[in-house]
Amino acid sequence: MTDREERSKKVTRRNFLKATGGAAALGMLGGIVGPTEAFAATAGVPKKWDQTCDVLVVGSGFAGFAAALEAKSAGADAVIIEKMPLYGGNSIINGGDFGAAGTQMQKEMGVEDSPELMLKDMLKAGAYLNHVELAKTVAYGSKDALEWSTNFCGAKFTRLNFHGGHSVRRSHQTENASGSGLIGKMMSKSKELGIKVMLRTKMVRFVVDKNGRIAGIEARTGYSFPDEKSGKPAFIRARKAVVLTSGGFSYDVALRQVHDPRLTDRFDSTNHSGATGEALLAACQAGAMDVQMDWIQLGPWTSPDEKGFGVVPLFCERLVGFGPMLNPATAKRFIKETGDRKVRADAIVLIGHPVVILGDSYAVQKQVVPAALEKGLANGAIKKFDTLEALARAYDIAFGPFMEEINKWNSYVEKKKDPEFDCMIFPDARPTAAPPFYAARLWPRVHHTMGGLVINKEAQVIGFDMKPIKGLYAAGEVTGGVHGAVRLGSVAMADCVVFGRIAGTNAAKEKA
Ligand SMILES: Cc1cc2nc3c(=O)[nH]c(=O)nc-3n(C[C@H](O)[C@H](O)[C@H](O)COP(=O)(O)OP(=O)(O)OC[C@H]3O[C@@H](n4cnc5c(N)ncnc54)[C@H](O)[C@@H]3O)c2cc1C
Repeated sequence: MTDREERSKKVTRRNFLKATGGAAALGMLGGIVGPTEAFAATAGVPKKWDQTCDVLVVGSGFAGFAAALEAKSAGADAVIIEKMPLYGGNSIINGGDFGAAGTQMQKEMGVEDSPELMLKDMLKAGAYLNHVELAKTVAYGSKDALEWSTNFCGAKFTRLNFHGGHSVRRSHQTENASGSGLIGKMMSKSKELGIKVMLRTKMVRFVVDKNGRIAGIEARTGYSFPDEKSGKPAFIRARKAVVLTSGGFSYDVALRQVHDPRLTDRFDSTNHSGATGEALLAACQAGAMDVQMDWIQLGPWTSPDEKGFGVVPLFCERLVGFGPMLNPATAKRFIKETGDRKVRADAIVLIGHPVVILGDSYAVQKQVVPAALEKGLANGAIKKFDTLEALARAYDIAFGPFMEEINKWNSYVEKKKDPEFDCMIFPDARPTAAPPFYAARLWPRVHHTMGGLVINKEAQVIGFDMKPIKGLYAAGEVTGGVHGAVRLGSVAMADCVVFGRIAGTNAAKEKA
């Protein structure tokens, strides 16, 4: 027997929690639960269950709906619970960009792409920390997931966008430029198939049976976020499995600070307010392992001049490769505008104050969705100027050095090559010269938590004995490993749909 086999024989998930290891792990995860409490947090199969289903899905985002729809299609009685008064989590407020490789839309638009190239981009952005089999499952499954979202759910994707860090345009955007364009369809399909969605129902803990299997959960029904005393306890039994799709923890300041102490409440978040980590921690209390929790993504494209996600990200991401990004204090460019999110956010945080992105009328009219532009102009986060001089004055940029930088940028655009930062300059980009000019200030916000529960490519949650936890699957942002250090823009949708479907399909196959 090898050392590792011997170790895993001695340390089963259950005796791990009974012994002190669980306490160590829990100590790491917030330092709030001791060994006795840890065991109590999962113990106790109730004498009577209040409700029973085959597959219980916790969370109503892309991953949750994908799981429930597949489980139901496979014949299982699937129920979704959601703690908030509205369904959809981050998914319903997202930008609707779905990364997929080798699709029909790409072919029609002359974009050459392949799952191999998408995987390569994901691994490069992820600093090669990605769990390769998981990333591969997403890249190779992305086209099918997009087609399922279209053909089975009924979503429409009408634009092909570019996001920093991708080699080609592969972000297929929903018709209404929002994740609601897919979530709304998933909700309608769920109603049509008879999947029950229970709002204001918060999962509090997992119930583990005497064989170490996840038997169900304890919830609070009638819960009113964030009042922890609201609602009343209810036990929900999952005859086949629980699928955890509770999303990330970008809004959980205490948990994110455990893993990245810099991320105090000085940093706002783009997420919905329910993006907190208690369900992830409950899984850890039931013996699940977590990974890469300190890789927390800041969105480099949010603006301090509007709240939440806002519309400036849609302005900024369409303009990169068409217009320059400058530090107003030096009037200089400072980073590859088409670089990945981490590279750009880190550079802005290092500068220590907001930076400026700008574009001329050609770039803005060609690239930016009119509704986003109008909204940004109306809320004041995007500004319009007749001259570059007026733009420089508005952001307190020294005009002489500013024009030198603009001329330099324009010469790169003409040559289609940026020798300084290697910004990807698009074939249809033109020098920044045609008035009026548009600009916005940028300051990062917490956007995505790459870390989470360890899963295998069957979406089974892995315990501290390195084995799948019986009766527990997970998908979407609550899991870790797919994206490694950095998630590329638009790949979360692919991740959620690919792994949500796998989790639902496999959960439905479990014996009741
Ligand atoms: C503003 C914004 C724009 C984005 N744009 C894009 C984009 O264009 N393309 C892209 O690929 N990605 C994008 N992302 C990222 C992407 O939207 C998310 O990673 C994805 O939606 C996560 O889906 P999910 O199903 O894992 O979780 P979510 O959609 O967040 O759903 C999880 C649900 O679980 C619920 N929940 C949590 N805990 C409990 C509990 N204890 N009990 C019951 N319910 C619980 C939550 O309330 C939530 O509704 C964006 C993110 C944001 C915030």
